[in-house]
Amino acid sequence: MDRDDLHIASYFRNLSQQDVECLLCPWHCRIRPGKTGLCGARENHEGTLYSANYGQVTSLALDPIEKKPLYHFYPGRPILSVGSFGCNLSCSFCQNWQISQGRPLSEYISPEKLVEMAVNCRPQGNLGVAYTYNEPFISYEYLADTAPLVAAEGMKNVLVTNGIVESEPLQALLPHLDAMNVDIKSMDDEFYRRLCGGRAQHPRDTVEAAMAHCHVEITNLLIPGENDSDEQIETLVDWAAGLSEHMPVHFSAYRPAHDFHAPSTPAATLKRAHEIAVSKLKFVYIGNLHLDGTTDTRCPSCDAVAVSRSGFQARPDCLSEGRCSNCGAGLNIIQ
Ligand code: SF4
Ligand code: SF4
Ligand SMILES: [Zn+2]
Repeated sequence: MDRDDLHIASYFRNLSQQDVECLLCPWHCRIRPGKTGLCGARENHEGTLYSANYGQVTSLALDPIEKKPLYHFYPGRPILSVGSFGCNLSCSFCQNWQISQGRPLSEYISPEKLVEMAVNCRPQGNLGVAYTYNEPFISYEYLADTAPLVAAEGMKNVLVTNGIVESEPLQALLPHLDAMNVDIKSMDDEFYRRLCGGRAQHPRDTVEAAMAHCHVEITNLLIPGENDSDEQIETLVDWAAGLSEHMPVHFSAYRPAHDFHAPSTPAATLKRAHEIAVSKLKFVYIGNLHLDGTTDTRCPSCDAVAVSRSGFQARPDCLSEGRCSNCGAGLNIIQ
């Protein structure tokens, strides 16, 4: 780590012999001097914990908000999307494993510079900044420094996350966030332990806490034979519907990646998930595979297509201030 780039981590405590315990996420890594935590993004230097990926940008793009995916948050608008390196899970099916599980080349972009870039993208309709691609919570200090600057420009902060974070840092950051997409990879603890090195309860807790502060959508990647049984889908749908029948839920098609070589999710599985979910949820979407009629937002009251989508292009043709222009029903859309 370059000395000029040192940023002391929030949320850690000192132990004996210059060891530290990181308190940012539930793993509470005990980190020896000169070592990093499990996420690869927090380093112990002589008894002080530092953020190793502060401002270290590996990916930067002006993406459609639909690509996050967020379908109910300013549909049709682009957002400057930024990623760093590291992750506090190790999913064997990770699509972004080059940046989540390693430390690739990165470029330092200060919070001020990133905000300037976001402002410069305003003529293209840029909404703000989305922290995404790898796990953003492990860049906690960068988020905490950048998000207020983004907000001060009247722009939005969006997080795309695995939801693995301790409650105290989450609560401290939530007032600065406008929207989140949280991965609920499975409702089964066994799945999380075996394939991701995690626990199923943590992302659910994050969703429930975040809903009190900002707009939230859920993504469930369906992996054949691992989390795609009717029972597993029903359990997830029941939980989401219990939070709100207006919670947008995205079922996403898996494709072989990284260390995982199961065949891609068949269309039939996604159709079945859609069928199960629409019986209890108002806004259910299929991503990563085109299935007619599963990406549009339909008004649950009058069935008008409020937002039509093709690929990542969205047209809010029948939408006014987040409501159906045809009948006035609320659609849980922020616009
Ligand atoms: S944020 Fe990283 S270092 Fe800290 S407890 Fe989680 S995995 Fe360990
Ligand atoms: S949480 Fe996301 S980024 Fe992290 S390893 Fe899993 S799939 Fe990859
Ligand atoms: Zn309507």
